[in-house]
Amino acid sequence: MTFFARMPLSPMKVFHNPLHAAHAGRQEMFRGRMVPSHEVPQRLEYVLAELRRRPLGELLEPEVDDAALCRALERVHDAAYLEFLRDAWQAWVALDPDNAGRDALPSVWPLGRPHAFRMDAPTRHFAARLGMHAFDAGTPLTAGTWQAARAGAACALAAAQELLAGARGAFALTRPPGHHAGPDYFGGYCFINNAAVAAQALRDGGCQRIAVLDVDYHHGNGTQTIFYERADVLTLSIHGDPATEYPFFLGFADERGAGPGLGFNHNLPLPRGSDFATWREALRCVLDEVRAFGADALVVPMGLDTFAGDPICGFALRQPDYLEVGAELASAGLPTLFTFEGGYAVAEVGVNAVHVLQGFEQAR
Ligand SMILES: [Zn+2]
Repeated sequence: MTFFARMPLSPMKVFHNPLHAAHAGRQEMFRGRMVPSHEVPQRLEYVLAELRRRPLGELLEPEVDDAALCRALERVHDAAYLEFLRDAWQAWVALDPDNAGRDALPSVWPLGRPHAFRMDAPTRHFAARLGMHAFDAGTPLTAGTWQAARAGAACALAAAQELLAGARGAFALTRPPGHHAGPDYFGGYCFINNAAVAAQALRDGGCQRIAVLDVDYHHGNGTQTIFYERADVLTLSIHGDPATEYPFFLGFADERGAGPGLGFNHNLPLPRGSDFATWREALRCVLDEVRAFGADALVVPMGLDTFAGDPICGFALRQPDYLEVGAELASAGLPTLFTFEGGYAVAEVGVNAVHVLQGFEQAR
């Protein structure tokens, strides 16, 4: 009998981040050019508007205890990294008062090769510290990033608490997204790993086994790394092949976990251009793994950048396909927590996100 077996059915609750718009990057570095940020506040607003048009359940703002949130963040991120994020904007502006008018982006990195640059260098300059904690120059850190990311993580924690209280489905409408953020680094528009916060909170609340099934176009590198040596959290990801797609340096099929976690990570990279039939086959394959694992709960980092119209990605899912994605996910028969990740066809992201949730609700 699973942890949730005796709990009653209840409608899906949606937690949205009231502070998300405080994080609004102006520009990102893209292959030598500064381009307008793809990860914009309107993304969440479109989802919210669609949820108001097609309500699935209650729309709530997260109300979580501040100390509980701090503890939940420290369960998946290093305390020093969280402190860095908290103070980063102030340090950026202290470098140069004119910085108040531009976002912080890293421009120098220690690489991490043995005997090349020290990862433990006692360097204090903010530019160096920024490079220590960021893995790309496409993720602007702004005046409101910490407040927004923290409130987004509160949505994930509140959604986990709902599942623990008996809900069969919950949606953390988080922004900024989270699945690229690792234990002590940010990148890929992500700062705090909301899906990892939720998965860990479910574990700490009494679930024995959690499956995290990442359906974003990009590999969920941060989530994989956070749980890589653990057998209690199965991490699965279907994504564009990192041989040609971001984040390039992780997400290959031969990464199966390490130590006690060996066998508890599975990547399914697919070629750019893959259609829904191919993608669904991969989904059914990982859902079989979720069942075989005996998960108590499922966490789905829900990226909608698999959409054919996405401006920066390369799969070919169409709008009606997302209803089927939701139904397939419901077939696992598990309490399921969705977090909001990528999806950059801004005007369509609301319909696509709510299609997944509606497909899930109708099938369960
Ligand atoms: Zn993505």
